[in-house]
Amino acid sequence: MIKDILKKENLSKEDLLTLIQIKNPEDLKLLFDEAYKLKLKYIGNKVYYRGLIECSNICIKNCKYCGIRKDNKNVDRFSLSQDEILEISQWVYENGFGSLALQSGERNDKEFVDFIEDTLIKIQNKCSNSLGITLSLGEQTLETYKRWRNAGASRYLLRIETTNRELFKKIHFDDKLHSFDKRLQALKDLRTTGYQVGTGVMIGLPGQTYEDLVNDIIFFKENDIDMIGMGPYIIHEETPLGKEALGKILSDEERLTLSLKMIALCRLYLKDINIAATTALHALHPFGREKGILAGANVIMPNATSKNIKPKYQLYRGKPNLDDDALKGKLALEKSLKEIGEEVVYFKKGDSPHFFNRIK
Ligand code: SAM
Ligand code: SF4
Repeated sequence: MIKDILKKENLSKEDLLTLIQIKNPEDLKLLFDEAYKLKLKYIGNKVYYRGLIECSNICIKNCKYCGIRKDNKNVDRFSLSQDEILEISQWVYENGFGSLALQSGERNDKEFVDFIEDTLIKIQNKCSNSLGITLSLGEQTLETYKRWRNAGASRYLLRIETTNRELFKKIHFDDKLHSFDKRLQALKDLRTTGYQVGTGVMIGLPGQTYEDLVNDIIFFKENDIDMIGMGPYIIHEETPLGKEALGKILSDEERLTLSLKMIALCRLYLKDINIAATTALHALHPFGREKGILAGANVIMPNATSKNIKPKYQLYRGKPNLDDDALKGKLALEKSLKEIGEEVVYFKKGDSPHFFNRIK
């Protein structure tokens, strides 16, 4: 019985496998309600924002699923200037977001590493050293992680994408640049450097099984992860995986529900971590992020990038609110969160409670 499983303090792998395969709506509601109860217990009826800045779509990698992969010649490549990043950071800060996230394609040349370091220092100077800064800038050397940490970043999001090594190989190239072991090492390095470490997976990849997803959740726990940023896989038809997956993956509705189940299971299994209701949920449903919160998530990353840049950063088709400016998005989200009984916390960083619990 689903009810009995949900009463347990610690779930087994079998329990997770049963819960992820729930089909009937009553049981699904029980699952989401239980996860939301735990979210209320560990975080309260609160949502924390991270203003997302999409810094550049230039990337040295060729992940087979991603619209801005190096070999996609149809992408109009851009990099924000330091002044542009500082201006958006200031907006994020003045609007009380408490945290921002810098995301971009992967580069590890000296110019890029120096640029990010200098930009971090300037952001923190401009914002009274009070912003929680998350980086999502791909795999780097231990030295680079340290420099960026010292310059003012405190969190790093690097998705493992899938913990099934065979599937990982299938959705990347099996070469040095796209190596599962390197990614594992990167997550270890981030931890050693003292970041709040975030990871996550794509949900509904072609060939991915329920057991793969349950193994992903167990991996998060075994690696003592502080934050989860995961979401549905969404096809970009100009990518090798997108072409192959067209017509062969679960429907949008099924991938949305599966992603919500993953959020709920992560909350039940990992308890005091930060979980993001990601933009990809929003891409599949206008209230995808609110549904994510009601399934146990507590973080949202509203896009703060200007609306003339947003269309150039398309990882998948159907990116939401391309024509909206950041302020419009912020106000609409605040209203819909209020309607579900959630309060946006301003001027607070919203660090992962787990991070502090694990280093006590
Ligand atoms: N380049 C950095 C990296 O890969 O970690 C950060 C930016 S990358 C675009 C951020 C995330 O986008 C990836 O970790 C991947 O999970 C997600 N992503 C890329 N293409 C996607 C797609 N087609 N559907 C869903 N998520 C996608
Ligand atoms: Fe580059 Fe990240 Fe996209 Fe891979 S997922 S191609 S590393 S931007």
